[in-house]
Amino acid sequence: MIWLELRANNTIFDKGWNFKESVWAPTKKADGANWPFWNLVNDVTKGDLIFHIKENNGIKYFVGYSIAATDGYLTKFTSSKNHIWSYTDEFYKVDLSDFEELNPIIPLNDFFTNYNQELRNYFLENKKLSKAQKKRLFYVIQRDKLQCLNGAYFSEFDSFLASKISDELLEVRKTIKNTAKTDVVVKELEQRIGHQEFSENVKSNFNYKCCYPGCNVEGKGFLISGHITRWADNKDLRGNTDNGLCLCLMHDKAFEKGFFTLDNNYKVILIRNKFENKKWLLDYLEQGENIEIKTRQINPSLEALKNHWIRIGNKT
Ligand SMILES: [Zn+2]
Repeated sequence: MIWLELRANNTIFDKGWNFKESVWAPTKKADGANWPFWNLVNDVTKGDLIFHIKENNGIKYFVGYSIAATDGYLTKFTSSKNHIWSYTDEFYKVDLSDFEELNPIIPLNDFFTNYNQELRNYFLENKKLSKAQKKRLFYVIQRDKLQCLNGAYFSEFDSFLASKISDELLEVRKTIKNTAKTDVVVKELEQRIGHQEFSENVKSNFNYKCCYPGCNVEGKGFLISGHITRWADNKDLRGNTDNGLCLCLMHDKAFEKGFFTLDNNYKVILIRNKFENKKWLLDYLEQGENIEIKTRQINPSLEALKNHWIRIGNKT
């Protein structure tokens, strides 16, 4: 998934609790109430893409993005310094890695102005969705203007909103002299966004369930969108939804390592000669043998599967 952190506070905290190091929020308000824009921190999955807005002299900027190095988790924190959340020691936290700075950084007001209509439409469409599908967004339409939502520390972003950031970088690129650095940033960013988009599309294609026959794993945090043909092996197929299988951690590993594949009819084939010394794995996978994978909207690509057969040495 893609997320947005809006860090207005410039206090320096203990190591591990500062900007670029982690995102974190108290589990409750001082009066004991829940605040959804804090609870969302707990919903992050390792590998998710997180954008950052930072405030500088009262002006907000998109300054960069990073990758979640952990899932969201609950932790105790007593800072050596007093801060406005010192009323509690229970926090949700996600550790971060791979911070990339945007070049140039983008003022939030420019973002609101330049993509005004698209952001409005997106907001209004989102409002119509069911409670389960509706995203918690960082902005609202107030007095007919786009405004940051007060207290929206951590919110849901998606590939549409993220792609507006790379659009804006490309726009700015036209007016600046040294464009090489911006080109690198945009390319990297588009790859990151593409990867998240692929991952969401594949999981949604299988309705957020592991597609291995008889496996009961479901829900966002325990599933992987595995590539059937690996990224390095075929550039044309890689981002396509039909090049992905939604599998739980265990079944993804078994597929990636070539213990099973699918035939032309999407039935599981076990690669029997690979299970030497791994009877436990055979026992684990055998229940699905010769059974078709679970319901999906789009079938996996046969071309992608052929590449998988070649890679793992399947001759059947
Ligand atoms: Zn599974």
